[in-house]
Amino acid sequence: MAAVEEDVENLLEYDSDEDAKNAAEPGKPTKKKSEEATDGDIHSAVHLSSFRDFVLKPELVHAIADCGFEHPSEVQFEAIPQAILGTDVLCQAKSGMGKTAVFVLTVLQQLEPVAGEVSCVVLCHTRELAYQICHEFDRFKKYLPQVKAAVFYGGIPVQSNRDTLKNDPPHIVIGTPGRMLQLADEKALNMTKVKYFIVDECDRVLESLDMRKDVQKIFQMCPRDKQVQMFSATLAEGMRGICKKFMHNPLEIYINDGAKLTLHGLKQYYIELQEKEKNRKLVDLLDALEFNQVVVFVSAVRRASELNKVLADCNFPSISIHSGMPQEERIEKYKQFKDFQSRIMVATDVFGRGIDISRVNVVINYDMPDSSDQYLHRVGRAGRFGTKGLAISFVSSERDAKVLNDVQDRFAVRIETLPDQIDASTYMNA
Ligand code: AMP
Repeated sequence: MAAVEEDVENLLEYDSDEDAKNAAEPGKPTKKKSEEATDGDIHSAVHLSSFRDFVLKPELVHAIADCGFEHPSEVQFEAIPQAILGTDVLCQAKSGMGKTAVFVLTVLQQLEPVAGEVSCVVLCHTRELAYQICHEFDRFKKYLPQVKAAVFYGGIPVQSNRDTLKNDPPHIVIGTPGRMLQLADEKALNMTKVKYFIVDECDRVLESLDMRKDVQKIFQMCPRDKQVQMFSATLAEGMRGICKKFMHNPLEIYINDGAKLTLHGLKQYYIELQEKEKNRKLVDLLDALEFNQVVVFVSAVRRASELNKVLADCNFPSISIHSGMPQEERIEKYKQFKDFQSRIMVATDVFGRGIDISRVNVVINYDMPDSSDQYLHRVGRAGRFGTKGLAISFVSSERDAKVLNDVQDRFAVRIETLPDQIDASTYMNA
């Protein structure tokens, strides 16, 4: 059995105590490590070379131009040239700096569609993210009409997935691990021709034992000889070791230093208040702030629906999204928000990672997240791809204050109390 397969087999028995062990035993040798530019300029992570330098298929160059991308981001500049040669990639880079395009473009560049064969599998942790990734494939394969992509996730009838696989078989499948494994187990989805295996938000996918087991099983159904790429904005030392067990001699791109994870275009403030004052404060803020779209994060499903009702009663154009809703409704709300039919989204952490909605320029932590990692993911919903944004956190307990302090220490930012007036030009793009 090849070394990677053995490693992945062993991971099935993995428990969290192994994090420390993995941290102490660095994985296989790395090909190259990269650090992002450090100056405070919000455009520092955009590279001045051109997409043409990558010598991609003309169909891709054309689609990239249609998307309005002029220069590759730093992470694209580092990863794309090697990934299109089949190198495995483990990449940690800031939220919103174009990680998705790295795997979408490099898979489309390499993929030669064969009728009835699935060549690429993309796994991620939420249905909305799967849907969004499928949309990115659709954008970039616009001039490659023979390439088909399909998205599969739980919560909708499995029969419709089976029908798609039978009647309109895709070359690229994107989905959540549970549903993908179900389809593979019942042989509706054939993994034996897979050449590209991608995990987005890999730390989140691999940290929960259930999802990790599903990923491992899918991985083992695929041929040994495949390219593996994994991505996340957060990737702790121990998790890197786990990810690398799926890979051969990967290109590793990390931003180790918390300070470099800071989103430079983002203004961050906090407000100390009591729980019972939160609604009033939120309503005042929504009245006072200039925003294109705003995401209000809460800690629980019930709080999301209740708060959404409160806002709707005050005539705010608000919708909510959380894991307690039927799947069709979740995707429907996501689309509504993405299409700008609604300007305020009240969400739980299902919406806290990876979701890219370019008009969101304000994030409000109505309930403080549990960890500095989750804070980073949430606030990364605003200020995407170097644009400006504003994040305001409500602090109503000692626990909230501790998370706020952790955020300041880890990312080397000073988060000030919210002033009475904020100049809109500091968080709105001109
Ligand atoms: P991601 O980090 O993959 O979620 O991407 C964040 C946003 O940046 C998405 O809306 C992308 O379409 C956009 N984006 C990615 N790469 C580029 C680029 N090179 N130039 C302009 N926008 C980009």
